[in-house]
Amino acid sequence: MPAVQHMKWYGWGVEGVSFHHEDKPGLRPFVLEIIDLDLDTPPGRQTQLSDLDIPTPLIGDELLGRLRAVVGDENAVSEDEDRVVHTYGKSIRDLMRLRGNDLPRVPDVVVYPADEAEVQQVVDAAIAADAVLIPFGGGSNIAGSLQAPEAETRPVISLDLGRLTRVLDVDEEAGLARIQAGALGPDLEEQLNARGWTLGHFPDSFTHSTLGGWVATRSSGMQSDKYGDIADITRGLRMVMPGRVLVLRGLPSTSSGPSVREMVLGSEGRLGVITEVTVQVHRIPEERVILGYLFPSFEAGVAAMQEISTSDASPSVTRVSDAGETRFSFSTRKKSKGVSVSGLVSKGLFKVLERRGWDLDAVCLSFVGYEGGPEHVARQKAIVKKIIGKHGGIGLGKGPGELYDQKKFDTPYIRDFLLDRGAAADVSETAAPWSQLVPMYDNVTAAARKAFAQIGVQGWVMCHLSHSYHSGACLYFTFAFRHDDQEPLARYDVVKSAIQQAFIDTHGTLSHHHGVGTEHAPWLEQDISAAGVQMMEGLFAGVDPGRNLNPGKIT
Ligand code: FAD
Repeated sequence: MPAVQHMKWYGWGVEGVSFHHEDKPGLRPFVLEIIDLDLDTPPGRQTQLSDLDIPTPLIGDELLGRLRAVVGDENAVSEDEDRVVHTYGKSIRDLMRLRGNDLPRVPDVVVYPADEAEVQQVVDAAIAADAVLIPFGGGSNIAGSLQAPEAETRPVISLDLGRLTRVLDVDEEAGLARIQAGALGPDLEEQLNARGWTLGHFPDSFTHSTLGGWVATRSSGMQSDKYGDIADITRGLRMVMPGRVLVLRGLPSTSSGPSVREMVLGSEGRLGVITEVTVQVHRIPEERVILGYLFPSFEAGVAAMQEISTSDASPSVTRVSDAGETRFSFSTRKKSKGVSVSGLVSKGLFKVLERRGWDLDAVCLSFVGYEGGPEHVARQKAIVKKIIGKHGGIGLGKGPGELYDQKKFDTPYIRDFLLDRGAAADVSETAAPWSQLVPMYDNVTAAARKAFAQIGVQGWVMCHLSHSYHSGACLYFTFAFRHDDQEPLARYDVVKSAIQQAFIDTHGTLSHHHGVGTEHAPWLEQDISAAGVQMMEGLFAGVDPGRNLNPGKIT
């Protein structure tokens, strides 16, 4: 097997790294209060790989021999663990199914091509043998974008891009870099940083997701306000299709008909295998700082973020948490004095808040990030300070922002920790116009609470705004409840569906940056209309009439 880094088969991240709560004294009482779960409860028995019923590979010697001839015996693997790692992504549904030994269709072989020529030969061999081919980046998607259809009787090949990790070239004048699609976030940032550049794309899954995966799911990073979503960052690409290569050169813009680049963005492996992406890169900024702020209410924070988005300031991060997420953030502080605002701010500031008459339970934490030369940063900060003051907010300085910045890639580990203890925690996110955001927030939180009541659990829902645009922003909801192994997936579905439907009912999209997959497909027609779905189906059928390329995703 080649030396490609994969996540744990049963959860997030790498072996040996996990979440623990002992150094966060505020977390246990908080979780006990909100979902009635005692974090000191020992975890249940972990499912072992040997517990799984892994179906025997369904692949004939002829196809296997052909694939081995292309990539070499050691790069066409049918070991149990490798096949299981490539079966699902990392949604809560994926993790529950894995841990519940629910593996109806596992890839029959995992291939690791070394270059585009090998990818082409693998794709062509798959089509010739009427096999299914599923491109695999980091396996971090949470939209159900990887699993083969349960009833699939054809051989299933997982094509792992893990050997295509190089920055090939940087056009120093244009700031355009050609990068192989299998590069994980740290791989490509390290190579770019060595030449003084950065991509500026930092999703929470940065450490375990790839450039090709970002493009194929229309990803967004936490600094997207400055650098753009991956859809903006991607200026060109190469994609292997059956019998040919799609070549889109890196261009600042073009009017050459409907955008083929946009057709590939978000295509989730349905059109081919992206092998290389030409991306806009930027010089590493001289200064980078994230400042913390507090608002008296979520509405005030949203209004301030809206005004910032239309002001002369151009921050890299705009984020505001609701009161619930603010309390959660405080609870995860090391040596925290509590989960209320009194545990976070100095005595002096606490008195100011009391004097201003703030309801301390409604306080909302916000972060705004600034990047660039010292003068630019100072000017942005001054503009934002004025706007924040106008909306009743106050500054907290650098401390909370530094903390947020340091622990941002650790947060994903908490979901497994809760799952081990009988609680489901997951996210749903959307984007909507500014005019709809507060009504949507109210609608979604009410729908989630109604769903918790319907399934008879004490649930928790919290939210933050991030990724601001001129016309609107992304709202990102996290929800959790204790399921005690009582129909966890059926109960999860009730809550997840209620939230997704509330998005659509309040002018939101089915997802701002996680894609469609199978998880969000039921809402596609309501999102883009029947005519939009028909256009997509025509595109997929035109490129892939045999439904060999990651069938069953999106439509
Ligand atoms: P995979 O999961 O391997 O694949 C995703 C889809 O893309 C599949 O359909 C696959 O077939 C296809 N694909 C992958 N590579 C290629 C290729 N080279 N050519 C063609 N198709 C391909 N997303 C965000 O945008 N922002 C976030 O902040 C964020 N945070 C997350 C945090 C956590 C804890 C988790 C679990 C997920 C998060 N995600 C986030 C979701 C996920 O990381 C993204 O969807 C990511 O873009 C997937 O990339 P990947 O390389 O892991 O792709």
